Amino acid sequence: MKLRDKAIIDGHTDVLLALVEQRRKFYEESDRGHVDLPRMKKANLIASFFAIWPAINQYYIQKGTRQLLELVEDPRNEALLIRKKEDIEKADKENKIGVIFHIEGIGGFDSEFHLLNILYRTGLRSFGITWSDKNLFGSGSSFVPNTPEDTRGITAEGRELIAEANKLGIIIDVSHLSDKSFWDVLDVTKKPVIASHSSVRKISPHVRNLSDEMIKALVDNGGMMGINFGNVFLREDCARDADTPLTKVIDHIDHVVNLVGPDHIAFGSDFDGTGVPSEIKDVTGFIALVKELENRGYSDKDINKICHGNYIRIFSKVWK
Ligand SMILES: [Zn+2]
Repeated sequence: MKLRDKAIIDGHTDVLLALVEQRRKFYEESDRGHVDLPRMKKANLIASFFAIWPAINQYYIQKGTRQLLELVEDPRNEALLIRKKEDIEKADKENKIGVIFHIEGIGGFDSEFHLLNILYRTGLRSFGITWSDKNLFGSGSSFVPNTPEDTRGITAEGRELIAEANKLGIIIDVSHLSDKSFWDVLDVTKKPVIASHSSVRKISPHVRNLSDEMIKALVDNGGMMGINFGNVFLREDCARDADTPLTKVIDHIDHVVNLVGPDHIAFGSDFDGTGVPSEIKDVTGFIALVKELENRGYSDKDINKICHGNYIRIFSKVWK
């Protein structure tokens, strides 16, 4: 699939939540928050994973899904719900923003997967098993320091969930899982997985980031990770300090590329869900990030892999 040069697919945005909280509209450019349609277009975005957060109960699933559908059904018709990989080409050709329907933590789902099947038909193409919490299907990476290490991992119901997602063609996102759950998922899944918004633990020792062993395991699985722009996930001290250089994001990318090559790394900004470096500011910061990849001598071919090619590979392998 050939897309326009250096078009970006972003692995994670919480814009749906931010639109409600900040009382702004997706189709109108704002100076608040990180993401809206005009700013995405300025920054050469082609699609993002739009997260519904946090699906700890069915109310949030219902509310978020309705909000997402209203966005793609807007008469201005500039946001396209992505159901198959060819829809990404369509978004590119028609100059629309692709909306990839993602649910971040599916603790509210039934274990016979009725809701999963309904939402698949609605357009759900990616989910995280938990949002850092513990639910019927597995355990997450708690944010609370000194929490005893999770020994439960993925449950029997969670194993069935992974099989069902593989069968339907839904991407499994391991970003918010505990280490034990991460390894369990890789044991069970027959399809590549993504860590949509996790950075490198070797640089920033946050529990939400991935160790080098985990990154190598993602390679064996055929999967990939998207670097999170959150200050806490970029910095050595994991501080919520916006005075973090933009180049730090590329340091994380360099680490992964040096470790395993350019085929398993992408962006997963976490825009509108976390504090990012003031130099990045908002989604338009992608322009400077791509420039920094060029400054560091990345080839156009590798930059295209990082910007969108690696995600396209996952879509080809997992979606029908
Ligand atoms: Zn998240």
